Amino acid sequence: MRDPRYDILFEPMAIGPVTAKNRLYQVPHCNGGGYRDPSAAAEMRGIKAEGGWGVIFTEQCEMHHTSEITPFIELRLWEDKDIPMLRKMSERMKSHGALAGIQLAYSGINGPNLYTKEVPLAPSALPIRTFTNDPVQARALDKSDIKDLRRWFVNAAKRSREAGFDLICLYGAHGFGIFQHFLSRATNQRSDEYGGSLENRARFVNEVVADIRDAVGDTMGITLRVSLDESIGTLGFSNAEVRDFIEMNRDLPDLWDLAHGTWEDCSGPSRFKEEGAQEQLVRGIHELTDKPIVGVGRFTSPDVMAKMVRSGTLDFIGCARPSIADPFLPKKIEEGRVEDIRECIGCNICITGDMTMSISRCTQNPTFMEEWRKGWHPEKMNAKGASRSVLVVGSGPAGLEAAWALCRRGYDVAVAEARTEIGGRVVREAKLPGLSAWRRVVDYRQYQLSQRGNVEIYLESALDADSILDFGFENICIATGATWRADGVARQHVVPMPIAEGANIYTPDDLMEGTVPSGKVIVFDDDHYYMGGVLAEMLAKGGADVTLITPSAYVSDWTNNTLEQIAIHPRLVDAGVEIVLNRGLTEIHPHHVVSNCVYTNRTQTYECDAVVMVAARKENSAVYDGLKAREGEWADAGLKSVTIIGDANAPGPIAWATYAGHRYARELDGADIGDALPFRREITELALD
Ligand code: ADP
Ligand code: SF4
Repeated sequence: MRDPRYDILFEPMAIGPVTAKNRLYQVPHCNGGGYRDPSAAAEMRGIKAEGGWGVIFTEQCEMHHTSEITPFIELRLWEDKDIPMLRKMSERMKSHGALAGIQLAYSGINGPNLYTKEVPLAPSALPIRTFTNDPVQARALDKSDIKDLRRWFVNAAKRSREAGFDLICLYGAHGFGIFQHFLSRATNQRSDEYGGSLENRARFVNEVVADIRDAVGDTMGITLRVSLDESIGTLGFSNAEVRDFIEMNRDLPDLWDLAHGTWEDCSGPSRFKEEGAQEQLVRGIHELTDKPIVGVGRFTSPDVMAKMVRSGTLDFIGCARPSIADPFLPKKIEEGRVEDIRECIGCNICITGDMTMSISRCTQNPTFMEEWRKGWHPEKMNAKGASRSVLVVGSGPAGLEAAWALCRRGYDVAVAEARTEIGGRVVREAKLPGLSAWRRVVDYRQYQLSQRGNVEIYLESALDADSILDFGFENICIATGATWRADGVARQHVVPMPIAEGANIYTPDDLMEGTVPSGKVIVFDDDHYYMGGVLAEMLAKGGADVTLITPSAYVSDWTNNTLEQIAIHPRLVDAGVEIVLNRGLTEIHPHHVVSNCVYTNRTQTYECDAVVMVAARKENSAVYDGLKAREGEWADAGLKSVTIIGDANAPGPIAWATYAGHRYARELDGADIGDALPFRREITELALD
């Protein structure tokens, strides 16, 4: 049963008129589904209820149509018609005794209103501040607008109560919510009683909290989410001012929800932020208020969580990503199964679902956002099908997840791995600068497999079609991964690029295997995710003179979606890497390269001793191809199915591989669904007229 050290995490605590059953608090987090996929989002929250969270929040919910953040897909509460969708969510949240919370967002200076076409309203007239620098400015709220806005908040609070929520979070963090816009001198340059002194800047939030308390405060708890530091220096809402604000308004909300800084700070990836990274900013705040505090920090360790509560730093442990990676984290602590916690690796792939307006996935938890769409439960597998045995070839993230999920279904599983250790790309990439937490993808699955009697792992077992046909397994899952290409094929070059004889080309695989160039090295990044930037950092730290050339306008362009780009660029600059943007490579020679401008095609040469080619990856599909070529022999060998998954099928991020492994395991022996859609989807109801 539960370790008594963690008892403190399971003490109930009041938040205004309602009481949370424990201290494990799922803070609001996006999921890329929002109003477009409300049942998928509701079921995802319901699974967390089952997993034991004491408090569960929605993502940000646009509380009035005059402020919205299209193209991003969050929730909406614009009229009564939105209530049933939100009620479905609150009911799922409350299904196991959790408090259901709704985050009300008025996006102010962060809402471009591309969908509603309303003129944005903000404390001061300034350009809208978004990721995409939309060419739109906000009008400053006048006194009657402020009155309207206060009424809209009350309307939204009443609708939230009708939708069944216990808690309202007023969003004033990350630069996204209007309460911060009023509190910060950067976005509030008013000269009336709502601007100037901190007392004046705090007037609006005081008014809204009082209004909402009058309207629904007898039954609902009111929380206020502010950032511990706006992270833009003294002009912004700094940590010192946050402390003054809390001290001056000790009892304002029923709970203080203290986010870190910007969203990039608050959801810092493990490459740049440790667990509990905001501790310094939050320490001591408790003494300034009598109300409980929740704070975040990608907490996955129950020891750190218990320490945070015991030391009086926090009352509630706020988790977004750790609750995504393991929705059953509270239950596992409660039941004394700490070693079963599937720890978040801090890769921020979950955030990319929101940033790309698609739907979120999680590297560690492939069932995330598939709870309703596919009926996948993170802790339960479907029953075993007709066949008995599966041979998984390759033990990267795809093979390991397949093996673990197949084991849970009850198959006899064998994993063959060519190398001396399991883990595939993950064990190699986890040795790169800042990526050590990624090893958790392997560690979790390795431990879980070690607890099972129905799986065997064979190391140093490079298989081919012959050996596989001899073994007599019924199902073969090929997860043999991919290899980085040296010929330049990626996006700029769709066929091999001109490379002169004698040129020194290295691939990421070479570097990860320990063959590392020195001297003047060019890293050519036409992959655009983390690998080019990470290798440039590693080489520069190892003493090489590194130039990173990329056809993109950004270093590690796609990491804009993981909120890392903003940290990668300065890290490379600090490491001494010369960054060359908007340029490709047209020729590689032994001692120089020819680079072209992607706009003008004008060329320039750069001297170098070696080129690290971060281009596309080639699928390792030889074993699969060999078996396919001998399909006629399968029946005699007792072979029913051969399937290729993960990077061997089509290279992608690690999350794509764990998803592929999980899907393979779920669908093995399943009915043939023909041309039917393989997931459930919600379609907007047509208006009657
Ligand atoms: P994925 O991301 O799809 O899981 P990885 O590249 O991480 O792919 O892992 C593939 C694993 O498969 C590697 O550990 C590799 O050593 C192993 N592998 C590749 N070919 C064979 C083979 N023929 N037999 C056994 N293992 C193999
Ligand atoms: Fe954590 Fe990555 Fe999963 Fe997000 S996608 S919850 S960062 S493991």
